[in-house]
Amino acid sequence: MLENRTIIVTGAAGGIGRATALILGAAGANVVASDIDANGADTVEAIRSAGGAGHFCRADVGSEPGVAALVRETIERYGRLHGAFNNAGVEQANVPLHELSIDQWDRAIRIDLTGVFLCLKHEITAMLENGGGAIVNTASALGEVAIPNAAEYVTAKHGVTGLTRAAAIEYGVRGIRVNAVLPGIIRTPMIDRAIEHPDFAAGFGKLLEHHPIGRFGKPPEVGEAVKWLLSDAASFVTGAMIPVDGGYRAI
Ligand code: NAD
Repeated sequence: MLENRTIIVTGAAGGIGRATALILGAAGANVVASDIDANGADTVEAIRSAGGAGHFCRADVGSEPGVAALVRETIERYGRLHGAFNNAGVEQANVPLHELSIDQWDRAIRIDLTGVFLCLKHEITAMLENGGGAIVNTASALGEVAIPNAAEYVTAKHGVTGLTRAAAIEYGVRGIRVNAVLPGIIRTPMIDRAIEHPDFAAGFGKLLEHHPIGRFGKPPEVGEAVKWLLSDAASFVTGAMIPVDGGYRAI
């Protein structure tokens, strides 16, 4: 489905990013797996072991020089950029808004929102020079609704949905599709960490009620949607917010 396409995946060391990188590698893509965590190199090892192609590039999505270097290294290695999954992110601090420190706010906005902006900026620049491409951003069901004690995360993810729409309408006519996936709760290291916080843990059972499918999601279930959105099978889809949430937003 993605033979010889070169695709960047951020946040590829674990969770949704790693699972998606493996799926894209199995679909024939050259996967540039990126993460701030050096363990992202293991994801590339796993892609290669399964017969695919990949390269690890360590980068902080909150740093413009870091993101610029990621895109540059991708072009140097594979010649051009066809696709990107802008997925790296951090969870909320689990405190009420009036107790949220400016550092906690800045961290979420820098990584979860500015990180997506920086990736879009440099990926789109590269794609405009080479005939277009497809981009998927990871927003969240919390890009459309809120939960308590997550104001900085909810705000950042609402920003990602806005940014996705803004980019889609600016670049559609120039051959670049931009969409977002909006996962519900997916069991990943992020959720394992969040659940250690007593306030989040207390509300966790109630969150299951928001998933009418009766369970939380698995990382490859997001990865399959991303694969489709990045492929030519989704050639008329842009500016779409694709829920992968077990029905969270249907209630
Ligand atoms: P995760 O913590 O398992 O993986 C996130 C990855 O991002 C990690 O490998 C981490 O090292 C990396 N990362 C963090 N900061 C970074 C930075 N500054 N630069 C580069 N990489 C960085 O989390 P996940 O659950 O797989 O989350 C992936 C994305 O999905 C995030 O954007 C998250 O907000 C979103 N999301 C997750 C869920 C869920 O329930 N797990 C639900 C909705 C949205």
